[in-house]
Amino acid sequence: MSTAANTPAGVVAGRFGAYGGRFVPETLMAALEELEHAYAEAQADPDFHAQLDLLLRDYAGRPTPLYYAQRLTEELGGAKIYLKREDLLHTGAHKINNCLGQGLLARRMGKKRIIAETGAGQHGVASATVCALFGMECVVYMGEEDMRRQELNVYRMRLLGAEVRGVSSGSKTLKDAINEAMRDWVTNVRTTHYLLGSVLGAHPYPTMVRDFHRVISREMRTQMLEKEGRLPDAVIACVGGGSNAMGAFFEFIEDKNVRLIGVEAGGRGTGLGEHAARFQGGSPGVLQGTYSYVLQDDAGQVSLTHSVSAGLDYASIGPEHAALHDSGRAEYVSADDNATLEAVKLLARTEGILPALESAHAVAECARIAPSMSPRDILVVNVSGRGDKDMGILARELNLKGA
Ligand SMILES: *Cc1c(COP(=O)(O)O)cnc(C)c1O
Repeated sequence: MSTAANTPAGVVAGRFGAYGGRFVPETLMAALEELEHAYAEAQADPDFHAQLDLLLRDYAGRPTPLYYAQRLTEELGGAKIYLKREDLLHTGAHKINNCLGQGLLARRMGKKRIIAETGAGQHGVASATVCALFGMECVVYMGEEDMRRQELNVYRMRLLGAEVRGVSSGSKTLKDAINEAMRDWVTNVRTTHYLLGSVLGAHPYPTMVRDFHRVISREMRTQMLEKEGRLPDAVIACVGGGSNAMGAFFEFIEDKNVRLIGVEAGGRGTGLGEHAARFQGGSPGVLQGTYSYVLQDDAGQVSLTHSVSAGLDYASIGPEHAALHDSGRAEYVSADDNATLEAVKLLARTEGILPALESAHAVAECARIAPSMSPRDILVVNVSGRGDKDMGILARELNLKGA
């Protein structure tokens, strides 16, 4: 079931310590191997990188700024705070980095049809965008509950020419949409690329998706050296599946003096079902192709999760985070719904920036730790996306209707 079959002992591709691997039905093994080989070839091809870099620059808007948040720094009265502005990218979040990478790869592989899963709809919108750009057919699986909650993103995807297929099984949310996308892939594997949206799933997805987001920490590193002449003391990022965090962490992993802080969704309580903090209440298990931490009950039944932010609301986490957690190289904390909503307000009012609710989890952790740090310390917060998509929730939760 794992990748061990055709790799030498001790060097298992797609493993991060004990985590990762390839836990899929036999019918998908050939497709994953085809993808793995195509990706390795593309990685070694300077043309592929040139095409991707051009799109990232001229279409998506890279490099994103590393912005010194002076008023936020003064308000919190401790560490100097920088924001990595992934929220300024086309489609409003980091997700476009991965979608452009996989879209180019799919085109290279001669696939004419793209399928994707989406929870809140952000990955679906980024996928539909890239399919429009490349003239590819696009089918997005989305739980019916999520379609109801994220109606505007459904319209966006349709306007971009994608077909949105509602999923009515299970809890009618992200996990069920992934199951349905995998089912489609098994059936249509010859013509179809599955554009997975985070550092999740079977090998090579966690490695490949991370690589497409590495540009975040590559830029951060250069920009920080330019501005401060040294590396930051800590990088903070929110963790749903974990793609923006892996992108923000990766180039600093060998720099042991840079703390890497992942922030999970603390939701509305500590009980199973009340949050999505996989490292606080989760345990190792297999979900949707990979071995990682999973929120599950004693019988191994995957639990429901809750977060005010749909993008962090998933029962498992990318396997590379599981390894970084166990080795102690990265620290994982959580921010609850209330702290997150306060963080949205804080950033809006000190800097005029409306972060996505996901990203606001990282801002909340920054607000918690910055005051007790020295003004000589430097924090970088990865602002993974912008908050426009969350205005309905914010209007309700922050009482903005003026009633
Ligand atoms: C989807 C999303 C996330 C969560 O996904 P990761 O793979 O954990 O990065 C975080 N922030 C924003 C803005 C998102 O749209």
